[in-house]
Amino acid sequence: MNPFVLAAEMLALQREQWRPSHVVRERQWRLLRSMLAHAYDTTPHYRSAFDARGITPADIRTPDDLTRLPILKKRDLRAPDGLFARGYKRESLHKSFSSGSTGEGATTYFDDRAWVIGRFLVKLRARLACGLRPWHNAALFQWIPNEPSFLRRRILRQLAFGVHEPLDQTTDSLVSFGPHALYGFPSYLTRLAPVAAGRVRPRFVFTSGELLTERVRETIASGFGAEVFDIYGCTEMKEIAWECPARSGYHVNADSVFVEILTQEEDGVPAGSIVVTSLVNRAMPLIRYLVGDSGSWIPEACSCGRGLPLMRPSLGRLADYFILPGGGEVSPYNVMDPVEALPGVAQFEIVQDRTDHALVRVVPSATFDEDTKREIVRGLAPVIPGMTITIEVVDEIRPEKSGKFRIVKNTAFSDS
Ligand SMILES: [Zn+2]
Repeated sequence: MNPFVLAAEMLALQREQWRPSHVVRERQWRLLRSMLAHAYDTTPHYRSAFDARGITPADIRTPDDLTRLPILKKRDLRAPDGLFARGYKRESLHKSFSSGSTGEGATTYFDDRAWVIGRFLVKLRARLACGLRPWHNAALFQWIPNEPSFLRRRILRQLAFGVHEPLDQTTDSLVSFGPHALYGFPSYLTRLAPVAAGRVRPRFVFTSGELLTERVRETIASGFGAEVFDIYGCTEMKEIAWECPARSGYHVNADSVFVEILTQEEDGVPAGSIVVTSLVNRAMPLIRYLVGDSGSWIPEACSCGRGLPLMRPSLGRLADYFILPGGGEVSPYNVMDPVEALPGVAQFEIVQDRTDHALVRVVPSATFDEDTKREIVRGLAPVIPGMTITIEVVDEIRPEKSGKFRIVKNTAFSDS
């Protein structure tokens, strides 16, 4: 994107957040209707979805009318051909892969503008709002740290660290890097905080990906002596909503997404579920995408004065903690991590079905073999010391009654 267009997009985002909330909502609705028309005109999937219901985009006049359209689920993204808009070449699009909380991988494709807005500009707006400045260093904690690009290192001043590195080693690296901001999962940052306390002094900590309880927030804030801001997002939509310094809730990025919180059960999806429509991704329109979390609206205006709507996600990503035979808990994210990146695994769930036993159910992909099994055990065993591991190959993994997948379950300590 050319730098003048980029600057203009950023200025527009900066201005938009301060408009009165009814103006923000009206503009958001116009963008949504434009996206519906575009999807209907250019994608086989939405053309047939509208046709099957005997409606056209003109019939969607109010937000309530959206329930006439189907909910898009992750499995729909696994065969995405019908979702591509005419006129876009798949190989020229940006893509994001998500193994996701459902245990099923899928790739989302973005056109240039959607990518720049979702990946960089709305994030920049949110971080600026919290006090982060472009010259600040940021440390990112990731499952598999990617080799930082020139853009990340030099322009965004970011360095990535793996969450499996020894904590004292990471602390040493952080001391020499001197980050002003940390980005990571709450469960990781609560482990890092006591080790890095006093040596690493960021001004801001940004969390995402897991439920941030008040206790965890306090542990991270006091451990690092920094302010903690939580971010809500998903791979398919990028950042959806974020906390401003007033922390009255999470401001929805109304310029890039339209969020619905279902008021009643729809298509087996329970009330309270969050579904999101992208307002910017025209290459692969995603309309009413089921994120897999629940949430609620906050009707009050935020004291910061922004007109962006306020919500509170209650990360319903269903996952249990493992409880070790020797005592101690292991975060579900640490349990699923060694398994979810393996190419031989199409879908999986991990169950602590006895106090000292983990059952890994795997739907194999074409590349699954004995090595895959060995790698699962090799990766998982150190995470859950004292437990034996059994691998069971299955044809399918059924969702919970709620329609969600519980990717890490503990049936030994909780009946579910
Ligand atoms: Zn605010």
